Amino acid sequence: MTEISDDIILSFLRRRRYKRLQPIAALIDMDGTLYDSMGNHADAWHRLATELGISATREEFFLYEGRTGASTLNILFNRAYGRDATAKEIEELYARKALYFTQMPSVKPMPGAMQMLEFFKEVNMRRVLVTGSGQRSLIDRLERDFPGAFTPNMMVTSRDVKCGKPHPEPFLKAMMLANVRPSQAIAIENAPLGVKSANDAGAFTIAVTTGPIPREELERAGAAIVFDSMPQCAEMLPRLVLKMFNLIIE
Ligand code: MG
Repeated sequence: MTEISDDIILSFLRRRRYKRLQPIAALIDMDGTLYDSMGNHADAWHRLATELGISATREEFFLYEGRTGASTLNILFNRAYGRDATAKEIEELYARKALYFTQMPSVKPMPGAMQMLEFFKEVNMRRVLVTGSGQRSLIDRLERDFPGAFTPNMMVTSRDVKCGKPHPEPFLKAMMLANVRPSQAIAIENAPLGVKSANDAGAFTIAVTTGPIPREELERAGAAIVFDSMPQCAEMLPRLVLKMFNLIIE
């Protein structure tokens, strides 16, 4: 069980040179955090790569989690052809990958995700979705699966940024939408590239292990705290947020 010690917060404050945290906004990743979707994404990417004759393992796509589709395609193209994909290739191939994703067994909300979002609503924290995905099939389901959790203007998707995760732009943009400073935001992420993006944007980054990526990778990427599952994260969040408000560096 991950313990919430004062030191987790104090060492983050010292590292960022913040005096205190006032978490009034939660910046929340989608795939692998709100939805148990990463296995399907990996399968869809792997099917596409195989059809293109590009050698790839299913596992590597878990590590690319958070990247935009264009960025993942460029990794594959550089490996196979020594060049980036053209805009036309990206449009065509990402549409194909998105189609394969929709043909896979239906994705379920992550256990604990609803409880986490309910807590944020209860305490009036602003919620912003921050996803590298442009996959409409899932983004459009959010309101059905998590009613009232996100308003349409409080979303940063792959379409809203020039540089995707691991660049800090998506989380900086989310802070702008929520109208908060970095010390007023917490981020929830499950992937190393997403953690790096959120941490570099200055947010207290909560990582959750929900797939095959070990916690050490998330710590290395800059996570301030790592939970072992979404239900554990949802259960501990109220205590963590309260502690954040109470600790000040003089
Ligand atoms: Mg994710």
